[in-house]
Amino acid sequence: MSDGKRIAICPGSYDPVTNGHLDIIGRASRIFDHVIVGVVNQPLRKNKTLFTAEERAGFLERAFAEHENVEPMVFSTLLVDFARENGASTIVKGLRAISDFEYEFEMNQLNRKLAPEIESAYVMASPEYSFLSSTGVKELATFGGDVSDLVPAEVAKALAERIER
Ligand code: ADP
Repeated sequence: MSDGKRIAICPGSYDPVTNGHLDIIGRASRIFDHVIVGVVNQPLRKNKTLFTAEERAGFLERAFAEHENVEPMVFSTLLVDFARENGASTIVKGLRAISDFEYEFEMNQLNRKLAPEIESAYVMASPEYSFLSSTGVKELATFGGDVSDLVPAEVAKALAERIER
């Protein structure tokens, strides 16, 4: 139950979480009483994930260990159903470039049709992260690039290990 608390959901595949995600989630946690980071179990838009849903949620849990109002959760259902089940009033998404806008605009209309009572809100990427994506980080790591400034230390280590295999 929400107990009158304002709850937001920050959905994503987080494969893996980047400093850009941490920025958006951290900023959302200052606006809302409680932020659920919804980790999509099997993202449709992407091919097989590099990390399992549990691993992806684990990185987020440890990154937000000090934030009492941030709670990562894996989900496999429709986003608006997940939001309703958890008493969330708002879906919060990060926006980088114009390229994010088109997809987000379409999803916004679809979600609004399915659940008019749930609002979507958009947080603009901070300039230092506006180029940063999980896909870019994986590509860099694959070719031996240094990702230590782009992801939490634990994620940089896990990426190097996973890619070596
Ligand atoms: P990605 O597109 O990096 O694979 P996700 O699908 O996990 O990321 O995205 C989760 C949410 O985080 C989306 O709303 C996405 O637009 C947002 N996001 C991802 N990277 C950044 C960033 N560097 N700055 C701001 N928002 C971001």
